[in-house]
Amino acid sequence: MQVLVINSGSSSIKYQLLNMETRAVMASGVVERIGEPMGSLTHKKAPGTDAEARKTIEQPIADHKQGMNLLVGLLTDPELGAVADMGEIYAVGHRVLQGGETLYMPMAVDDAVKDAIRANIPIGPLHNPANLAGIEVAQELMPGVPQVAVFDTEFHQTMPREAFIYPLPYEMYERHRIRRYGFHGTSHKFVAKEAARILGKAPAELNCIIAHLGNGCSLSAVKAGRCVDTSMGLTPLAGVMMGTRCGDIDPAIIPFIAEQTGMGVKEIDAMLNKQSGLKGICGMNDMRDIHAARAKGDERAQLAFEMFTYRIRKYIGAYFAALGRVDAVVFTAGIGENDPDVRAGVLEGLENLGIVMDPAANAGRAGEWMRIAAPESRVDVLVVRTNEELEIARTTVEVLRTT
Ligand code: ADP
Repeated sequence: MQVLVINSGSSSIKYQLLNMETRAVMASGVVERIGEPMGSLTHKKAPGTDAEARKTIEQPIADHKQGMNLLVGLLTDPELGAVADMGEIYAVGHRVLQGGETLYMPMAVDDAVKDAIRANIPIGPLHNPANLAGIEVAQELMPGVPQVAVFDTEFHQTMPREAFIYPLPYEMYERHRIRRYGFHGTSHKFVAKEAARILGKAPAELNCIIAHLGNGCSLSAVKAGRCVDTSMGLTPLAGVMMGTRCGDIDPAIIPFIAEQTGMGVKEIDAMLNKQSGLKGICGMNDMRDIHAARAKGDERAQLAFEMFTYRIRKYIGAYFAALGRVDAVVFTAGIGENDPDVRAGVLEGLENLGIVMDPAANAGRAGEWMRIAAPESRVDVLVVRTNEELEIARTTVEVLRTT
């Protein structure tokens, strides 16, 4: 049984075709720069295996339909593909960013689900239209193959109201649905289940703090297997410092910048999302480049690193207070899985919370997971490789089995 997972963004489509019996990735790829003068598609057959074969296409890609047509062509290519006909695929699982408060459980796509995704565009303005385009094109190109929507906000819907309501006039919540939604939910959910499995606990017995540190970064506090708080908010701009996003700042900075510079709200929003965070401080947003610059004595790169780790450490402290008891701190995603310096920086000085890292273990490389806590640490510390595609594919199969 093969499931195609689609993550359709505003100018990109990421895809992965998974064999559900073996968990093997049959093919994966990304269509990029849709709608720009020059686009590209990078496709891999059997990625990460000896049989890996890849192909890159560079050409203008006008819209999502053209991008999907190209990827369908490669998935069915006799040399580079994985299926003879798209009809062989059991189902398509779509990552959808924002389902709001009513539509967050994964579900088989029908017209009502599409209408609801459309209705949530105001609270997911960049992603929801692209997610919808991905669904509609997939329906057109794969008639008869069931499509399932899996929402990035689902895992966080268990937050209690004191965690998700902002201290604004209450009508902002009632009328405009302004609240904390949180994102990266599929990753947090997968990692919480993995951590429970690794620790030999039922998911409902586990209290943990998860740090998903990639291009975007978010933390979640998980109590008895359920999310009780998360660092991203109405949008993914909130929380810790990220590659190009500022994370939490004094909200009065926005009108202040507008008055001082004459910049408009949209322009400021773009600056906070794309020119801030690590990039804003030192000009670089890839942590590997930042380490290389630090090694050469670059002061700004050093500052960016210290700010990044300090802000994550503060969230860990806050979530300790929110949870009371913490069984494990878990690192995941690009930086969390691969960067021992960031992990060490984040955990520095947390011994009084019972968190002690083992430097030798931390220097190791995680396969599916690894333990980096010292034997005397009261709180476990894990590195777990996230797999959002597998989680979406499993969810897709479950939804179709039960409907
Ligand atoms: P996304 O949020 O786009 O899914 P990822 O989880 O793949 O991102 O994380 C991408 C980021 O991970 C990169 O920007 C880079 O900073 C970081 N990263 C990847 N590999 C390493 C590594 N070996 N060491 C440090 N950072 C890394």
